[in-house]
Amino acid sequence: MTAKIISGKEISRQKRSELALEVKALKEEGIHPGLAIILVGDSPASLSYIKGKQKAAEEIGLHFKLEHFSETISEEFLLNTIDQYNRNNHFHGILVQLPLPSHINETAVIDRIIPEKDVDGFHPINVGKLVTGQDSLVSCTPAGIIEMLKIEGIQMAGKHAVVVGRSNIVGKPVAQLLLKENATVTCCHSKTSNLSEITKQADILIVAIGRANLIKGSDIKEGAAVIDVGMNRLESGKLTGDVMFEEAKEIAGYLTPVPGGVGPMTITMLADNTVKAAKSIVKAKA
Ligand code: NDP
Repeated sequence: MTAKIISGKEISRQKRSELALEVKALKEEGIHPGLAIILVGDSPASLSYIKGKQKAAEEIGLHFKLEHFSETISEEFLLNTIDQYNRNNHFHGILVQLPLPSHINETAVIDRIIPEKDVDGFHPINVGKLVTGQDSLVSCTPAGIIEMLKIEGIQMAGKHAVVVGRSNIVGKPVAQLLLKENATVTCCHSKTSNLSEITKQADILIVAIGRANLIKGSDIKEGAAVIDVGMNRLESGKLTGDVMFEEAKEIAGYLTPVPGGVGPMTITMLADNTVKAAKSIVKAKA
């Protein structure tokens, strides 16, 4: 079997053009969705992620602002800046690029963004709403994964979904979303015994570990849908996923590439969340 390669790039292109139309219509009603990104320091990885986010925001027609501060700013200064954007009616989404310098408490920063503008979906209120099945802003990578599965027509209800990784930004929320879609979900992590035995049972396998090529072809069930979230930079400079692509594509039914799979979808869902936030903030005020 040769897997169908799911192009996150292609799905993103389509979704971004739909979002651009929606933003155009909202602007005609006097609503201009706005996204503010706050960057502390000059990490090349963060700068590159933000470049992608800015490009998508501009392509879709969002009002966009980047606040770029030196890594020596205090936590208090950052929290005050967040407060200003919380009050600013021109911005409906606020994202603080992580990681932050070690003298700034990330939890305090995430908690300071009002849940209505938390387009990263990291605020405990949004996480709590996700777990209790209420509408909320959902973290972008997990939302993008579910969107790809839906667009490809991959059935989730009744299927066994295995998530490898239990981080707050990918593993746990994607497991919750799969549960919401009525999959039977198993969540694995570094202390899981017999990982391969479990991954081999997965109809849907989501891999978010951060270890290059850890999942081999022999860890995958024939015909499974495999979503590779990993982004690992090899010594050669090449970007690679957590799944050994060449082996997996001979066994899986569907497979996402790295790059060009989950990455572009994550950025697109950030824009989607900003549009959602703008609509619900405006509706709540009406
Ligand atoms: P974290 O480091 O926060 O979490 C990694 C998870 O993998 C942990 O739960 C850890 O288990 C588990 N793990 C580590 N080693 C193993 C192992 N040998 N076997 C099984 N499980 C293991 O990473 P993130 O969730 O933030 O990111 C995961 C990957 O996804 C990274 O490569 C990251 O760059 C990428 N990523 C890509 C995005 C995109 O847009 N494409 C967005 C976000 C992340 P334990 O909890 O026990 O430590």
